[in-house]
Amino acid sequence: MRPGRRDARTVEPMAFPDGGGRPRVVDGPANERWLALLARQPTVIADGAMGTMLFSAGLQFGDPPEVWNLSHPDVVRRIHRSYLEAGSQILMTNTFGGNRQRLSLHNLEGRVAELNRTAAILLRAEVAAAGTDALVAGDIGPTGSILAPTGTLDYDEAVDIFAEQAAALAAGGVDLIWIETMSDLLEIGAAIEGARRVAPDLPIIATMTFDTRGHTMMGVSPEQAVMALTAWGADAVGGNCGNGPDELLAVTRRMRAAAPGAVLVAKSNAGMPELVDMRAVYRVDPATMAACAAEMRDAGARIIGGCCGTTPEHLAAMAALAARDSPIGAPGSAA
Ligand SMILES: [Zn+2]
Repeated sequence: MRPGRRDARTVEPMAFPDGGGRPRVVDGPANERWLALLARQPTVIADGAMGTMLFSAGLQFGDPPEVWNLSHPDVVRRIHRSYLEAGSQILMTNTFGGNRQRLSLHNLEGRVAELNRTAAILLRAEVAAAGTDALVAGDIGPTGSILAPTGTLDYDEAVDIFAEQAAALAAGGVDLIWIETMSDLLEIGAAIEGARRVAPDLPIIATMTFDTRGHTMMGVSPEQAVMALTAWGADAVGGNCGNGPDELLAVTRRMRAAAPGAVLVAKSNAGMPELVDMRAVYRVDPATMAACAAEMRDAGARIIGGCCGTTPEHLAAMAALAARDSPIGAPGSAA
């Protein structure tokens, strides 16, 4: 970071006191469902990895996972079902790379609407079949391009790209939008702006990846992230992916100290990936992941899940721990 550059990366957190005029979520049924979920229990369990599960079901490295929403809907639904059975209360659609910028690498840029809408419908169907009140989160990942002036993707075009994806997810019936694995404040800001433009009534969870000495790859600190993202109207903020739960625990503590009132999210990888026979292997087992989840809860995380390398077994162990929490408002409740 070069001091004095006038872009979002170098702006101090207190430069966002009024949110820069960005809209917050519009009240309605979706926001009521979101607030009700938070009100029901102190710790909400999200889901675990989608990519890891698809690879073990035969997805080949380099192929776009989103195509499986059309070619293997039974597999995608089975993965969602296994997370529902593990106790997940917020599940993400199989749409991480479902923006036109990333899909264009596979000549699929014209199928954003179809792939995202279908993904939302698949997950919605599984949640309905399970008869739970789990929420369907429309997953939005990075474009894969670097925004101007460092890179070539214009901010306004990035907003359009994210708006297109969010509109398709909303059309498929998602309850909220989850923007994840971001490194650049400009890009995640564009994603928030795009989502809110087309789906103003959907809550937004916004998480970044702090995998570089406590910062994102683009140099964003946990404090900058939590201040900027909440000021921009995100309803929950935190970290996902990265080098494992210890790293994200430290990030959670720093976010909590900087913004005690924010709804914090921790969705860690199952440790550092190791390359074995050209496959990424993650070593943190379910019991260890659950112990880490307890530490994240104690550090202030309200929404806890897993990212790369986590499986339904990991999430079941984490959910068992959350079930030991007292319901909010009960005697002995920490909240
Ligand atoms: Zn991950």
